[in-house]
Amino acid sequence: MTVPWVVLKYGGTSVATPERWAAIADRVAACATTHRVWLVVSAVSQVSNRLERALDEAVAGDASTSVAWLTERHEALADGLGLDAADRAPVRALLDELATLLRGVALTAEASPRLRARVLSFGELASTWLGLGALRRAGLDVTRVDARRLLRAEAGPATPDATRYLEARVPTRTAPDGPAAAAGAARVVITQGFIASTADGHTALLGRGGSDTSAALFAALLGADRCEIWTDVHGLFTTDPRLLPSARLLTRLRYREAEELAALGAKVLHPRCLGPVAQARVPLEVRNTADPQGPSTRIEADGDDEPAVLAVVHRQGVPLVSLHTLSMWGQPGYLSRLFGVFATHGISVDLVATSQAALTVTLDHVPGGLGGPAFQAALADLEALGTVTVRPACAVVSMVGRHIRTVLPRLGGSFAAFEERGVHLVSASSEDLNLSFVVDADDAPRLVRDLHAHLLGGGVQAPWLGPSWSELTTPTEAVPARPSPWWVARRDALLSLAADGPVWVQDLAVVRERARALVTALPQIGARFYAMKANDHPDVLRAVVDLGFGLECVSAAEVAHARATCGDAVPLLFTPNFCPVEEYAAAFAAGAEVVLDGPDVLHQAPATFRGRAVGLRLDPGGGQGHHAKVTTAGARTKFGHPIDDVDRVLDAARALDVRIVGLHAHVGSGILEPTAWSRTARTLAGLRARFPDLRWVDLGGGLGVVERPGQVALDLDAVAVALRGVEGLDGLELRIEPGRYLVSEGGVLLLPVTQVRDKGGVTFVGAAAGMDALLRPALYGAWHGIHNLSRWGEPPTIVAEVVGPICETGDVLGHDRVLPITAPGDVLLVENTGAYGHVMGSHYNRRGVVRQVTLG
Ligand code: ASP
Ligand code: MG
Repeated sequence: MTVPWVVLKYGGTSVATPERWAAIADRVAACATTHRVWLVVSAVSQVSNRLERALDEAVAGDASTSVAWLTERHEALADGLGLDAADRAPVRALLDELATLLRGVALTAEASPRLRARVLSFGELASTWLGLGALRRAGLDVTRVDARRLLRAEAGPATPDATRYLEARVPTRTAPDGPAAAAGAARVVITQGFIASTADGHTALLGRGGSDTSAALFAALLGADRCEIWTDVHGLFTTDPRLLPSARLLTRLRYREAEELAALGAKVLHPRCLGPVAQARVPLEVRNTADPQGPSTRIEADGDDEPAVLAVVHRQGVPLVSLHTLSMWGQPGYLSRLFGVFATHGISVDLVATSQAALTVTLDHVPGGLGGPAFQAALADLEALGTVTVRPACAVVSMVGRHIRTVLPRLGGSFAAFEERGVHLVSASSEDLNLSFVVDADDAPRLVRDLHAHLLGGGVQAPWLGPSWSELTTPTEAVPARPSPWWVARRDALLSLAADGPVWVQDLAVVRERARALVTALPQIGARFYAMKANDHPDVLRAVVDLGFGLECVSAAEVAHARATCGDAVPLLFTPNFCPVEEYAAAFAAGAEVVLDGPDVLHQAPATFRGRAVGLRLDPGGGQGHHAKVTTAGARTKFGHPIDDVDRVLDAARALDVRIVGLHAHVGSGILEPTAWSRTARTLAGLRARFPDLRWVDLGGGLGVVERPGQVALDLDAVAVALRGVEGLDGLELRIEPGRYLVSEGGVLLLPVTQVRDKGGVTFVGAAAGMDALLRPALYGAWHGIHNLSRWGEPPTIVAEVVGPICETGDVLGHDRVLPITAPGDVLLVENTGAYGHVMGSHYNRRGVVRQVTLG
């Protein structure tokens, strides 16, 4: 009897360390006792991203630092795996070839999709060589097979190259040299995910995240008993756990449901991987490498069929195109002409809504992106048919379920979540599997949380609902355990402070610790200005000023407060936005350095500025050229002057003899991605030649802190490394303006509990202050950890809506929070509230502004 196959797929983080490879070897060995094992692996984590970046760098001139990084990454893993020179030889050959290819790209300054595919395939080609060595060393009978021999992509003559090489589709048909044949006699095969070949033998990719699809294709081709996708989470969840840690694991799903979830935003699986396994009826399991015995999601043909909402998911960065035309009314064939335009240019349309005079669609795959030739050509064709509006990056929020329309009556209350939010398009899937709403990007996270709280919150029971993400992650190593927060040790002091009612507490020791860490980690930064708008308590200002920080102010009142608190010596930077022009004069008078947001104030108050030295704040997001036709580019934000329009400022400055001595850009806030600042630095360095008087470059703030479980802290060392790679900054002083980073973690909000009440099956825990104290959840849907400080350490038992006393439906501090049994008089602690907490408080409902005290 022939031995059946099982397919195992391991993603990037699951192949990134020797320990993970040991776990893979264990799993393979266990499966190999009953099955033959077909092992599909991704590139080592971050490698595919780095290859993409290397390509961009090569196009811009030089990718050598990325090549060095890639070499180091693979060599280090090879060291950890104990591989010898012979094992490493093929990896080294690949890296040499990569370096050569990238030098070629640097010479020609272009990279075709075909070449991109070849470069990106190095990640998986290399990881499978390392894996082969590791598994052989573990004593397994394993052979390595090149997936490109077995997976042949299909494309038509009109398929654009970007699709043909980078988003290829492989039909589930046995290749002439089928996988079983390629395996020979070996019990175990290791092969690459993500890569396939075109009919004429070139490397093609299945799209980012495509290794899942490779595994599914092999499982289908082999008629495997099952396909296991090993990754860094337990499976698919009822929503994105990073938004809502109370998201529940979906333990069983049917193929179409899982496919819908994956397509609509659940990032765990590549959407195209469900098709092949469904066709071949191979069950697919998603499992957590870090918790191999833990629960999982199993996806198969049969399953529950009762009407239900399974999940609320969202996708970001979705382009929305609307076409308004009067000629559509009653015109046979008009829609087909419109859709024909997208088809001709290889653009795939996802959601659709029509009216008498308008068609609105979202796009789910645009070869070359919105700036690429395909989209620009399509736009030109559409403009011949009517007036086109493009919103380049909307969000689609979807409720996914079965028989979702029969669930509609239950949705009643959840529609309140849409109030005040523009919904650009609503769509109900024809299969009754989802209801989707296209909204502005910023509205999506909060909408998801609100809808999830209504539909899947409060501990609902169903056979397919497993443990919550927070329950699953607490005991495992998937998330590095956080060191116990500072406030645990100061619990008694905090509880006695809260005896007098709501209070903000800021621990200055934590503020100092953060400030010192920043100074040490980023030695190349010449000047640091604390963004005092985050928390302007006098003790906080003095604490950071004592450590050598200047202060960044955004109003004349902040300037005055800074001077009054910290004296005349502290350097001040005044970076307002749309402020009354008199405030500039006040800032100059107080000895602050002034940063302009555009040329207007120079015209408004020439006497204030004549002969002065100023900085200029730029908006690096705007003016990318290809956005010309796009109505809502990054240009919609009110900050900074467009980077491609500096002439206007330079002219206005020259006329007044104003010298621009500094350039400033601030990319956003809460950023955990370490290369954000080096990118800004590079952008600003590129403008240096235009500003002969330049002395400093300010990279803004935005340094993020960990807010939700599962987030990885900003790696300051990586920020420093990235900054070191930026050229063209010699002789300039580098500046940053951290706010949140310094004060967020040191601050907590303490709130006595007023009432605990069950209403309509939902538990509400009431706090003595709500959005009047902490506005962030209501304003941005921000997530703050909430703990019962009085009962710290007691087991989590209830799931509750934590609400304040303000007469607003939106007065919710946290949805769906897991707490111990809670009673009136207990003290709740809201974490991470030192930044943008007290300063945003209001006197709404005449409750008075909650006091703030400092410790240490
Ligand atoms: N390495 C590829 C990527 O990062 C494919 C995958 O891991 O699924 O997109
Ligand atoms: Mg993946």
